[in-house]
Amino acid sequence: MNKVTASTCCYCGVGCGVLIEHDGERILDVQGDPNHPANYGRLCSKGSTLHKTGDIAARALYPELRLGKAMGRSRVDWDTAMEHAAQVFGTTIAEHGPDSVAFYISGQLLTEDYYAFNKLARTVVGTNNLDSNSRLCMSSAVVGYKRSLGADAPPCSYEDIELSDCVLIVGSNMAYAHPVLFRRLEQAKAENPDKRIIVIDPRRTNTCEIADLHLALQPGTDVALFHGLLHILLWEGWTDRAFVDGHTQGFDELKSLVRDYTPAMVSSICGIDRDDLQTAARMIGSAPSFLSLWCMGLNQSTAGSAKNNALINLHLATGQIGKPGSGPFSLTGQPNAMGGRETGSLSNLLPGHRDAGNAAHREEVAAYWGVDSVPASPGLSAIELFEAVRVGKVKALWIACTNPAQSMPDQTLVREALQNCPFVVVQEAFGNTETCQFADLLLPAASWGEKEGSVTNSERRISHVRPAITAPGEARADWAIVCDLARRLEKQLRPGQPSLFGFQSPAELFDEFKGLTAGRDLDYSTLSHALIDQLGPQQWPFRAITGHGTARLYTDGHFATDDGRARFVSEPFIPAKEQRDARFSLTLNTGRLRDQWHGMSRTGTAAQLFGHVEQAQLSLHPDEIRSRRLRDGQLVSVRSRRGEIILPVTADEQIRPGQAFIPMHWGDRFLKGLGVNVLTQPAFDPISKQPELKQASISVTPV
Ligand code: SF4
Repeated sequence: MNKVTASTCCYCGVGCGVLIEHDGERILDVQGDPNHPANYGRLCSKGSTLHKTGDIAARALYPELRLGKAMGRSRVDWDTAMEHAAQVFGTTIAEHGPDSVAFYISGQLLTEDYYAFNKLARTVVGTNNLDSNSRLCMSSAVVGYKRSLGADAPPCSYEDIELSDCVLIVGSNMAYAHPVLFRRLEQAKAENPDKRIIVIDPRRTNTCEIADLHLALQPGTDVALFHGLLHILLWEGWTDRAFVDGHTQGFDELKSLVRDYTPAMVSSICGIDRDDLQTAARMIGSAPSFLSLWCMGLNQSTAGSAKNNALINLHLATGQIGKPGSGPFSLTGQPNAMGGRETGSLSNLLPGHRDAGNAAHREEVAAYWGVDSVPASPGLSAIELFEAVRVGKVKALWIACTNPAQSMPDQTLVREALQNCPFVVVQEAFGNTETCQFADLLLPAASWGEKEGSVTNSERRISHVRPAITAPGEARADWAIVCDLARRLEKQLRPGQPSLFGFQSPAELFDEFKGLTAGRDLDYSTLSHALIDQLGPQQWPFRAITGHGTARLYTDGHFATDDGRARFVSEPFIPAKEQRDARFSLTLNTGRLRDQWHGMSRTGTAAQLFGHVEQAQLSLHPDEIRSRRLRDGQLVSVRSRRGEIILPVTADEQIRPGQAFIPMHWGDRFLKGLGVNVLTQPAFDPISKQPELKQASISVTPV
């Protein structure tokens, strides 16, 4: 007799509810959950094929260990594997200090997994060297929200997509990256043709199909464009002076800055028509409600923080925040990047939206955990972390649920780091990822449909993720692996003291973690797995007294800053460092395809998902192909200052002349040579530390 288990999709930050049909051993089918408020039954091509991606041949099934880099790994039992890991980590910490080890984790972990890693790093080990692939995803948005609004809290709900009169989509191919939300927007536009949609993107992506206006700006010039829009809004009297005076700080300084961003200057910097700039400003300035949606096009940049804040400035200047259909709304890339931020899973954060650099926050967390202190020394962000591994400062690295040997920029250096690191542990559901080849110890982890916990989606909604079947082989839940390591390390590093890791279930981890949210902007201290089961998925902050979550933040004009006022952030446009030149004459952009996810460890197991795009390709405008005397489908050498890949070239009218696009998904499992990230830059934003994955200068020549 088949059963149905309600859970969530494991791919993007929309966080769709799914109904998993199974027989207790195998997952047979997946349908959209009609009762889940993220998707009301809809699923995209990735979510609806989840049951076709369980290829057992791709899974890591047993712990495997090697005792020398030149050796192959051999199967070992869990006790041997974990004892060895604890012994190497313990010895390294004893000999070289706690900052000689590091954890690199993932926005695809569940909140309970994240919390276990955080507590382990900050208590038993005593390091802030815990960073996540969310650094590559949302860290610029974190900075943007905190600097402007006082807390890392997206203020909107998905229903605002339907309610808004003017939707600005910037740096996001929402049609591919967040398809179910795009369907909601598409339907809303069909029902209300007066709804205005503006897309800002260097490429004419599929998202542009429903746009009233597409601004194909030159890559990296977003700050100039936003300042130019504000310049016009001010000139035309389309700002909300009462809101600015009553609820913000810093407007005069910003006014002074944007005075220079005239339509003529912005048109020249951004490569867009002055009339289009004026039209966009009019659509924004005259709309009763204005919503902006953004993703990696803003975040993955050396100016990612400035871009986020320049966009939020537009909402503050027009008073378009805290009301239905209005506000700045980041679309989270990964399914639980939000949960990572909540639990403090970036090296500069602590649980409950606290900062590792804030002494009072450290004291609060230490007191809650019953330890003398949590570490004050700054932790390493992703790029810094792999560089520290490469030069030998970090000597033992624990990687969980992510594939840095495919996803990190400047792969040559990342692989050198992994190759040289004395001890690399990879905790992974799939045994064939690019990173697994560097594992001295491979630990098999349970995956989607097999594990329990919670996730928070882009609209702050927490869902209970439920298992349908047991994990294959000897794979274990991520939280259980971390707690096992923690208990073994406690014997070495905290002998004689009571264990901090007595957790027996993910519900117990949730119940401890939620106490760290009490009194904070994200307070969900009265929520539990059982209450979510009773009430359905809930948005934080969740108030027990009302029995439901909070759809919209800042509705009273009071922000999460010390004085309750939002802040305008005044930063000038600074061009990206790596520009086209005679030798590298094209600007490369990278991004998602409709049917693939990240490094394809899961989607790459379903033949159906290659039907849309079969192979990695370099896309160029047809004029570029002609002027370079190339042929459609011809193999070309693509070079940047960091490396080379060989790919077929294809003509694509979506790309402007002078630019190029390669999808982010293919790594060396599918290509001869490394994937696109051998070309991308390790340069990062000075505040968010998010790398510039969206822009690199390349050359293209026939092979
Ligand atoms: Fe999954 Fe995102 Fe598609 Fe929803 S939109 S089904 S969460 S990949």
